[in-house]
Amino acid sequence: MTSSTARLIEAEHRLGAHNYQPLDVVLSRGEGVHVWDIDGNRYLDCLSAYSAVNQGHCHPKILAAMVEQAGKLTLTSRAFRNDQLALFYEEIAALTGSHKVLPMNSGAEAVETAVKAVRKWGYEVKGVAENRAEIIVCADNFHGRTMGIVSFSTDPDARTGFGPFAPGFRTVPFGDIDAFRAAINENTVAFLVEPIQGEAGVIIPPAGYFSSVRDLCTRHGITLILDEIQTGLGRTGRLLAEEHEGVEADVTLVGKALSGGFYPVSAVLSNSEVLGVLKPGQHGSTFGGNPLACAIARAALKVLVEEDMIANSARMGERFQAGLNDIRSNLVKEVRGRGLMLAVELDPAAGGARKYCEALKERGILAKDTHGDTIRIAPPLVITADQVDWALEQFEAVLRA
Ligand SMILES: *Cc1c(COP(=O)(O)O)cnc(C)c1O
Repeated sequence: MTSSTARLIEAEHRLGAHNYQPLDVVLSRGEGVHVWDIDGNRYLDCLSAYSAVNQGHCHPKILAAMVEQAGKLTLTSRAFRNDQLALFYEEIAALTGSHKVLPMNSGAEAVETAVKAVRKWGYEVKGVAENRAEIIVCADNFHGRTMGIVSFSTDPDARTGFGPFAPGFRTVPFGDIDAFRAAINENTVAFLVEPIQGEAGVIIPPAGYFSSVRDLCTRHGITLILDEIQTGLGRTGRLLAEEHEGVEADVTLVGKALSGGFYPVSAVLSNSEVLGVLKPGQHGSTFGGNPLACAIARAALKVLVEEDMIANSARMGERFQAGLNDIRSNLVKEVRGRGLMLAVELDPAAGGARKYCEALKERGILAKDTHGDTIRIAPPLVITADQVDWALEQFEAVLRA
Protein backbone atom coordinates (compact mmCIF):
# COMPACT_ATOMS: atom_id res chain seq x y z
CA MET A 1 0.00 0.00 0.00
CA THR A 2 1.41 3.40 -0.94
CA SER A 3 1.69 6.19 1.62
CA SER A 4 -1.04 8.31 0.02
CA THR A 5 -3.43 5.33 0.07
CA ALA A 6 -2.59 4.70 3.70
CA ARG A 7 -3.05 8.38 4.55
CA LEU A 8 -6.53 8.55 3.03
CA ILE A 9 -7.59 5.32 4.71
CA GLU A 10 -6.29 6.57 8.05
CA ALA A 11 -8.15 9.90 7.74
CA GLU A 12 -11.34 8.13 6.72
CA HIS A 13 -11.05 5.85 9.70
CA ARG A 14 -10.26 8.63 12.16
CA LEU A 15 -12.95 11.10 11.04
CA GLY A 16 -15.71 8.97 9.60
CA ALA A 17 -18.37 6.93 11.34
CA HIS A 18 -17.44 3.27 10.96
CA ASN A 19 -20.73 2.14 9.45
CA TYR A 20 -18.94 0.40 6.56
CA GLN A 21 -15.94 -1.88 6.30
CA PRO A 22 -14.65 -1.25 2.76
CA LEU A 23 -11.90 -3.17 1.04
CA ASP A 24 -8.68 -1.16 1.26
CA VAL A 25 -8.71 0.19 -2.25
CA VAL A 26 -9.03 3.93 -2.91
CA LEU A 27 -10.63 4.55 -6.28
CA SER A 28 -10.30 7.72 -8.28
CA ARG A 29 -11.51 6.94 -11.80
CA GLY A 30 -13.99 4.72 -13.61
CA GLU A 31 -14.85 3.89 -17.19
CA GLY A 32 -17.22 1.14 -18.35
CA VAL A 33 -16.62 -2.02 -16.33
CA HIS A 34 -13.31 -0.76 -14.93
CA VAL A 35 -12.21 1.41 -12.02
CA TRP A 36 -8.71 2.61 -11.15
CA ASP A 37 -7.17 3.25 -7.76
CA ILE A 38 -5.06 6.30 -6.95
CA ASP A 39 -1.90 4.37 -7.82
CA GLY A 40 -3.19 3.58 -11.30
CA ASN A 41 -4.08 -0.08 -10.70
CA ARG A 42 -7.07 -1.21 -12.77
CA TYR A 43 -9.89 -3.39 -11.48
CA LEU A 44 -12.93 -5.03 -13.02
CA ASP A 45 -15.87 -3.84 -10.93
CA CYS A 46 -17.98 -6.87 -9.98
CA LEU A 47 -20.29 -4.95 -7.65
CA SER A 48 -21.39 -1.96 -9.76
CA ALA A 49 -22.20 0.00 -6.59
CA TYR A 50 -24.82 -2.57 -5.69
CA SER A 51 -26.23 -2.37 -9.25
CA ALA A 52 -26.41 1.43 -9.43
CA VAL A 53 -23.82 1.48 -12.22
CA ASN A 54 -25.49 -1.03 -14.54
CA GLN A 55 -24.73 1.21 -17.53
CA GLY A 56 -20.99 1.21 -16.70
CA HIS A 57 -18.93 3.87 -14.96
CA CYS A 58 -19.15 7.41 -16.29
CA HIS A 59 -21.25 6.49 -19.31
CA PRO A 60 -20.49 9.31 -21.81
CA LYS A 61 -24.10 9.89 -22.85
CA ILE A 62 -25.39 10.11 -19.29
CA LEU A 63 -22.46 12.36 -18.44
CA ALA A 64 -23.30 14.65 -21.37
CA ALA A 65 -26.95 14.84 -20.31
CA MET A 66 -25.92 15.65 -16.75
CA VAL A 67 -23.45 18.37 -17.74
CA GLU A 68 -25.88 19.92 -20.20
CA GLN A 69 -28.73 20.02 -17.68
CA ALA A 70 -26.46 21.20 -14.85
CA GLY A 71 -25.65 24.27 -16.94
CA LYS A 72 -29.33 25.07 -17.52
CA LEU A 73 -31.40 24.33 -14.43
CA THR A 74 -30.81 21.99 -11.51
CA LEU A 75 -33.50 22.47 -8.89
CA THR A 76 -36.85 24.21 -8.79
CA SER A 77 -38.53 22.23 -6.01
CA ARG A 78 -41.97 20.94 -6.86
CA ALA A 79 -43.43 24.31 -5.91
CA PHE A 80 -42.91 25.12 -9.59
CA ARG A 81 -42.86 22.90 -12.67
CA ASN A 82 -39.79 22.06 -14.74
CA ASP A 83 -39.46 20.99 -18.34
CA GLN A 84 -37.81 17.61 -17.61
CA LEU A 85 -40.30 16.02 -15.21
CA ALA A 86 -43.13 15.33 -17.66
CA LEU A 87 -40.69 13.87 -20.20
CA PHE A 88 -39.22 11.61 -17.53
CA TYR A 89 -42.75 10.47 -16.62
CA GLU A 90 -43.64 9.78 -20.24
CA GLU A 91 -40.48 7.80 -20.92
CA ILE A 92 -40.42 5.67 -17.78
CA ALA A 93 -44.17 5.02 -17.98
CA ALA A 94 -43.90 3.90 -21.60
CA LEU A 95 -40.89 1.69 -20.86
CA THR A 96 -42.39 -0.04 -17.82
CA GLY A 97 -46.09 0.10 -18.68
CA SER A 98 -46.90 2.12 -15.57
CA HIS A 99 -49.72 4.61 -15.19
CA LYS A 100 -48.45 6.75 -12.33
CA VAL A 101 -44.97 7.79 -11.25
CA LEU A 102 -43.71 9.39 -8.04
CA PRO A 103 -40.07 10.46 -8.13
CA MET A 104 -37.86 10.39 -5.03
CA ASN A 105 -34.09 10.26 -4.47
CA SER A 106 -32.78 7.25 -2.56
CA GLY A 107 -34.17 3.75 -2.75
CA ALA A 108 -35.20 3.86 0.89
CA GLU A 109 -37.33 6.93 0.16
CA ALA A 110 -39.12 5.05 -2.61
CA VAL A 111 -39.86 2.22 -0.16
CA GLU A 112 -41.09 4.67 2.50
CA THR A 113 -43.26 6.37 -0.10
CA ALA A 114 -44.84 3.07 -1.12
CA VAL A 115 -45.50 2.12 2.51
CA LYS A 116 -47.22 5.45 3.15
CA ALA A 117 -49.26 5.37 -0.06
CA VAL A 118 -50.40 1.80 0.37
CA ARG A 119 -51.51 2.37 3.96
CA LYS A 120 -53.58 5.36 2.87
CA TRP A 121 -54.97 3.30 0.00
CA GLY A 122 -55.89 0.63 2.53
CA TYR A 123 -57.96 3.08 4.59
CA GLU A 124 -59.51 5.08 1.77
CA VAL A 125 -60.07 2.45 -0.90
CA LYS A 126 -59.96 -0.98 0.71
CA GLY A 127 -61.80 0.16 3.85
CA VAL A 128 -59.37 -1.06 6.52
CA ALA A 129 -60.13 0.32 10.01
CA GLU A 130 -58.02 3.33 11.01
CA ASN A 131 -54.43 2.52 12.04
CA ARG A 132 -54.95 -1.21 11.52
CA ALA A 133 -53.24 -1.61 8.12
CA GLU A 134 -50.76 -4.48 7.89
CA ILE A 135 -48.03 -4.98 5.33
CA ILE A 136 -46.57 -8.44 4.86
CA VAL A 137 -42.80 -8.55 4.32
CA CYS A 138 -40.22 -11.34 4.04
CA ALA A 139 -37.58 -12.55 6.46
CA ASP A 140 -34.05 -11.60 5.41
CA ASN A 141 -35.40 -8.71 3.32
CA PHE A 142 -33.36 -5.66 2.44
CA HIS A 143 -35.31 -2.50 1.67
CA GLY A 144 -33.02 0.22 3.05
CA ARG A 145 -31.91 1.85 6.26
CA THR A 146 -34.51 4.36 7.44
CA MET A 147 -36.37 3.93 10.74
CA GLY A 148 -39.57 2.76 9.05
CA ILE A 149 -37.69 0.19 6.99
CA VAL A 150 -35.46 -1.23 9.72
CA SER A 151 -38.68 -1.68 11.72
CA PHE A 152 -39.44 -4.64 9.46
CA SER A 153 -35.90 -5.90 8.90
CA THR A 154 -34.98 -9.25 10.43
CA ASP A 155 -31.23 -8.56 10.33
CA PRO A 156 -29.92 -8.04 13.89
CA ASP A 157 -27.21 -5.64 12.61
CA ALA A 158 -29.84 -3.47 10.93
CA ARG A 159 -32.11 -3.35 14.01
CA THR A 160 -30.26 -3.83 17.27
CA GLY A 161 -30.22 -0.68 19.35
CA PHE A 162 -32.46 1.30 17.01
CA GLY A 163 -35.88 0.70 18.58
CA PRO A 164 -38.67 1.50 19.24
CA PHE A 165 -39.92 0.31 15.87
CA ALA A 166 -42.91 1.12 13.71
CA PRO A 167 -45.76 -1.41 14.01
CA GLY A 168 -47.93 -2.74 11.20
CA PHE A 169 -45.64 -5.29 9.57
CA ARG A 170 -45.91 -9.06 9.50
CA THR A 171 -42.95 -11.22 8.46
CA VAL A 172 -43.09 -14.49 6.52
CA PRO A 173 -40.29 -16.67 5.09
CA PHE A 174 -39.33 -15.74 1.51
CA GLY A 175 -40.53 -18.23 -1.09
CA ASP A 176 -43.05 -19.92 1.22
CA ILE A 177 -46.50 -19.51 -0.31
CA ASP A 178 -48.33 -21.27 2.53
CA ALA A 179 -46.82 -18.89 5.08
CA PHE A 180 -47.85 -15.94 2.92
CA ARG A 181 -51.42 -17.25 2.61
CA ALA A 182 -51.62 -17.81 6.37
CA ALA A 183 -50.45 -14.25 7.12
CA ILE A 184 -53.26 -12.61 5.14
CA ASN A 185 -56.14 -11.08 7.06
CA GLU A 186 -58.73 -8.35 6.50
CA ASN A 187 -56.18 -5.67 7.44
CA THR A 188 -53.56 -6.75 4.90
CA VAL A 189 -53.00 -3.89 2.49
CA ALA A 190 -49.80 -4.98 0.76
CA PHE A 191 -47.08 -7.54 0.26
CA LEU A 192 -43.68 -5.84 -0.06
CA VAL A 193 -41.04 -8.18 -1.48
CA GLU A 194 -37.88 -8.37 -3.59
CA PRO A 195 -38.20 -10.57 -6.73
CA ILE A 196 -34.75 -11.96 -5.84
CA GLN A 197 -33.32 -11.21 -2.41
CA GLY A 198 -30.06 -9.43 -3.20
CA GLU A 199 -28.48 -8.51 0.12
CA ALA A 200 -29.56 -11.84 1.59
CA GLY A 201 -27.20 -13.46 -0.94
CA VAL A 202 -29.03 -13.58 -4.30
CA ILE A 203 -31.84 -15.87 -3.13
CA ILE A 204 -34.14 -16.97 -5.95
CA PRO A 205 -37.62 -18.13 -4.89
CA PRO A 206 -39.07 -21.48 -6.06
CA ALA A 207 -40.62 -21.53 -9.55
CA GLY A 208 -44.27 -20.57 -9.43
CA TYR A 209 -44.00 -18.70 -6.13
CA PHE A 210 -44.68 -15.28 -7.61
CA SER A 211 -47.56 -16.40 -9.80
CA SER A 212 -49.22 -17.84 -6.68
CA VAL A 213 -48.42 -14.63 -4.80
CA ARG A 214 -49.97 -12.62 -7.63
CA ASP A 215 -53.15 -14.77 -7.52
CA LEU A 216 -53.52 -14.43 -3.76
CA CYS A 217 -52.94 -10.67 -3.90
CA THR A 218 -55.56 -10.25 -6.61
CA ARG A 219 -58.04 -12.47 -4.81
CA HIS A 220 -57.67 -10.68 -1.46
CA GLY A 221 -57.32 -7.11 -2.74
CA ILE A 222 -53.69 -6.88 -1.62
CA THR A 223 -51.28 -4.51 -3.35
CA LEU A 224 -48.23 -6.39 -4.60
CA ILE A 225 -45.20 -4.11 -4.18
CA LEU A 226 -42.07 -5.42 -5.87
CA ASP A 227 -38.85 -3.79 -4.71
CA GLU A 228 -36.86 -3.83 -7.97
CA ILE A 229 -34.35 -1.26 -6.76
CA GLN A 230 -31.57 -3.82 -7.21
CA THR A 231 -33.14 -6.41 -9.57
CA GLY A 232 -34.66 -3.87 -11.95
CA LEU A 233 -33.35 -2.07 -15.02
CA GLY A 234 -31.64 -4.99 -16.69
CA ARG A 235 -29.69 -6.55 -13.85
CA THR A 236 -31.36 -9.98 -14.17
CA GLY A 237 -31.42 -10.02 -17.98
CA ARG A 238 -34.89 -8.49 -18.23
CA LEU A 239 -35.96 -4.89 -17.77
CA LEU A 240 -37.74 -5.94 -14.56
CA ALA A 241 -37.18 -9.21 -12.74
CA GLU A 242 -40.97 -9.71 -12.50
CA GLU A 243 -40.86 -10.68 -16.19
CA HIS A 244 -39.08 -13.94 -15.32
CA GLU A 245 -42.08 -14.84 -13.20
CA GLY A 246 -44.72 -13.73 -15.71
CA VAL A 247 -46.35 -11.42 -13.19
CA GLU A 248 -47.06 -7.71 -12.93
CA ALA A 249 -46.72 -5.86 -9.67
CA ASP A 250 -49.25 -3.21 -8.65
CA VAL A 251 -46.41 -1.04 -7.41
CA THR A 252 -42.79 -1.29 -8.60
CA LEU A 253 -39.90 0.44 -6.88
CA VAL A 254 -36.84 1.43 -8.90
CA GLY A 255 -33.71 3.33 -7.95
CA LYS A 256 -29.98 2.67 -8.17
CA ALA A 257 -29.42 2.22 -11.95
CA LEU A 258 -32.20 4.71 -12.68
CA SER A 259 -29.38 7.28 -12.78
CA GLY A 260 -26.59 5.00 -13.98
CA GLY A 261 -24.75 5.93 -10.79
CA PHE A 262 -24.59 9.68 -11.42
CA TYR A 263 -27.11 10.91 -8.89
CA PRO A 264 -29.61 9.53 -6.40
CA VAL A 265 -32.84 9.01 -8.33
CA SER A 266 -35.63 6.62 -7.37
CA ALA A 267 -39.26 6.24 -8.31
CA VAL A 268 -42.46 4.55 -7.27
CA LEU A 269 -44.26 3.18 -10.33
CA SER A 270 -47.86 2.30 -9.91
CA ASN A 271 -50.32 0.35 -12.01
CA SER A 272 -53.27 0.67 -9.68
CA GLU A 273 -55.03 3.46 -7.91
CA VAL A 274 -52.48 3.39 -5.07
CA LEU A 275 -50.57 6.59 -5.90
CA GLY A 276 -53.87 8.30 -6.63
CA VAL A 277 -54.61 8.59 -2.90
CA LEU A 278 -51.83 11.16 -2.41
CA LYS A 279 -53.18 14.71 -2.56
CA PRO A 280 -51.23 17.99 -2.59
CA GLY A 281 -49.25 18.50 0.60
CA GLN A 282 -49.47 14.89 1.80
CA HIS A 283 -46.04 13.71 0.63
CA GLY A 284 -42.99 15.18 -1.04
CA SER A 285 -39.26 15.80 -1.28
CA THR A 286 -37.30 18.96 -2.03
CA PHE A 287 -35.06 17.18 -4.51
CA GLY A 288 -37.54 14.56 -5.80
CA GLY A 289 -38.25 15.06 -9.50
CA ASN A 290 -35.72 17.85 -9.94
CA PRO A 291 -34.72 18.65 -13.53
CA LEU A 292 -31.14 17.45 -13.11
CA ALA A 293 -32.32 14.09 -11.75
CA CYS A 294 -34.93 13.76 -14.50
CA ALA A 295 -32.47 14.58 -17.30
CA ILE A 296 -29.98 12.05 -15.91
CA ALA A 297 -32.62 9.34 -15.49
CA ARG A 298 -33.92 9.92 -19.01
CA ALA A 299 -30.42 9.42 -20.42
CA ALA A 300 -29.76 6.41 -18.16
CA LEU A 301 -32.94 4.67 -19.36
CA LYS A 302 -32.23 5.59 -22.96
CA VAL A 303 -28.75 4.03 -23.09
CA LEU A 304 -29.96 0.94 -21.26
CA VAL A 305 -32.38 0.26 -24.12
CA GLU A 306 -30.50 1.76 -27.07
CA GLU A 307 -27.26 -0.06 -26.32
CA ASP A 308 -29.02 -3.36 -25.77
CA MET A 309 -27.64 -3.74 -22.25
CA ILE A 310 -30.54 -5.86 -21.04
CA ALA A 311 -30.01 -8.61 -23.62
CA ASN A 312 -26.26 -8.40 -22.97
CA SER A 313 -26.96 -8.95 -19.28
CA ALA A 314 -28.88 -12.13 -20.12
CA ARG A 315 -26.16 -13.44 -22.46
CA MET A 316 -23.16 -12.53 -20.33
CA GLY A 317 -24.94 -13.69 -17.19
CA GLU A 318 -25.42 -17.11 -18.70
CA ARG A 319 -21.78 -17.26 -19.77
CA PHE A 320 -20.54 -16.11 -16.36
CA GLN A 321 -22.76 -18.54 -14.45
CA ALA A 322 -21.79 -21.48 -16.69
CA GLY A 323 -18.12 -20.61 -16.20
CA LEU A 324 -18.50 -20.42 -12.43
CA ASN A 325 -20.26 -23.78 -12.47
CA ASP A 326 -17.30 -25.26 -14.35
CA ILE A 327 -14.85 -24.31 -11.62
CA ARG A 328 -13.96 -27.50 -9.80
CA SER A 329 -13.35 -26.45 -6.22
CA ASN A 330 -14.51 -28.02 -3.01
CA LEU A 331 -14.71 -24.52 -1.55
CA VAL A 332 -17.82 -23.83 -3.64
CA LYS A 333 -21.16 -24.90 -2.20
CA GLU A 334 -23.44 -23.35 -4.78
CA VAL A 335 -23.47 -20.98 -7.74
CA ARG A 336 -26.73 -19.16 -8.39
CA GLY A 337 -28.09 -16.13 -10.15
CA ARG A 338 -30.14 -14.67 -12.92
CA GLY A 339 -28.66 -12.49 -15.64
CA LEU A 340 -25.71 -10.63 -14.17
CA MET A 341 -26.99 -10.92 -10.60
CA LEU A 342 -24.76 -13.77 -9.50
CA ALA A 343 -23.47 -15.31 -6.32
CA VAL A 344 -20.99 -17.97 -5.31
CA GLU A 345 -21.82 -19.45 -1.94
CA LEU A 346 -18.74 -20.95 -0.31
CA ASP A 347 -18.63 -23.94 1.94
CA PRO A 348 -18.67 -22.83 5.60
CA ALA A 349 -15.31 -24.58 5.94
CA ALA A 350 -13.79 -22.05 3.49
CA GLY A 351 -13.57 -19.57 6.37
CA GLY A 352 -15.74 -16.75 5.02
CA ALA A 353 -15.95 -14.94 1.70
CA ARG A 354 -14.08 -11.81 2.74
CA LYS A 355 -10.58 -13.27 2.33
CA TYR A 356 -11.47 -14.51 -1.17
CA CYS A 357 -12.66 -10.99 -2.06
CA GLU A 358 -9.29 -9.70 -0.83
CA ALA A 359 -7.52 -12.26 -3.00
CA LEU A 360 -9.68 -11.30 -5.99
CA LYS A 361 -8.72 -7.67 -5.42
CA GLU A 362 -5.05 -8.64 -5.72
CA ARG A 363 -5.94 -10.13 -9.11
CA GLY A 364 -7.80 -7.05 -10.29
CA ILE A 365 -11.39 -7.93 -9.43
CA LEU A 366 -13.54 -6.00 -6.97
CA ALA A 367 -16.32 -8.14 -5.53
CA LYS A 368 -18.20 -8.01 -2.26
CA ASP A 369 -18.80 -10.65 0.35
CA THR A 370 -22.30 -10.79 1.75
CA HIS A 371 -23.63 -12.64 4.78
CA GLY A 372 -20.33 -14.28 5.58
CA ASP A 373 -20.00 -17.05 3.03
CA THR A 374 -21.29 -15.58 -0.21
CA ILE A 375 -19.39 -13.67 -2.92
CA ARG A 376 -21.77 -11.51 -4.86
CA ILE A 377 -20.93 -10.86 -8.53
CA ALA A 378 -22.71 -8.06 -10.37
CA PRO A 379 -20.56 -6.35 -13.02
CA PRO A 380 -21.88 -3.49 -15.17
CA LEU A 381 -24.21 -4.80 -17.89
CA VAL A 382 -21.82 -3.61 -20.61
CA ILE A 383 -19.32 -6.39 -19.84
CA THR A 384 -17.99 -8.27 -22.88
CA ALA A 385 -17.41 -12.00 -23.38
CA ASP A 386 -13.63 -11.52 -23.18
CA GLN A 387 -13.97 -9.65 -19.92
CA VAL A 388 -16.23 -12.39 -18.50
CA ASP A 389 -13.68 -15.01 -19.51
CA TRP A 390 -10.84 -13.05 -17.94
CA ALA A 391 -12.86 -12.65 -14.73
CA LEU A 392 -13.55 -16.39 -14.68
CA GLU A 393 -9.80 -17.10 -14.83
CA GLN A 394 -9.31 -14.96 -11.74
CA PHE A 395 -12.19 -16.61 -9.89
CA GLU A 396 -10.84 -20.03 -10.80
CA ALA A 397 -7.34 -19.14 -9.58
CA VAL A 398 -8.66 -17.83 -6.27
CA LEU A 399 -11.18 -20.58 -5.62
CA ARG A 400 -8.79 -23.42 -6.51
CA ALA A 401 -5.86 -22.08 -4.54
C1 LIG B 1 -30.19 -0.66 -2.26
C2 LIG B 1 -31.58 -1.14 -2.00
C3 LIG B 1 -32.52 -0.35 -1.34
C4 LIG B 1 -32.17 1.00 -0.71
O1 LIG B 1 -31.69 1.92 -1.61
P1 LIG B 1 -30.85 3.19 -1.06
O2 LIG B 1 -30.66 4.04 -2.28
O3 LIG B 1 -29.57 2.66 -0.51
O4 LIG B 1 -31.69 3.83 -0.01
C5 LIG B 1 -33.81 -0.83 -1.22
N1 LIG B 1 -34.14 -2.05 -1.69
C6 LIG B 1 -33.27 -2.84 -2.32
C7 LIG B 1 -33.71 -4.17 -2.83
C8 LIG B 1 -31.95 -2.43 -2.48
O5 LIG B 1 -31.06 -3.25 -3.06
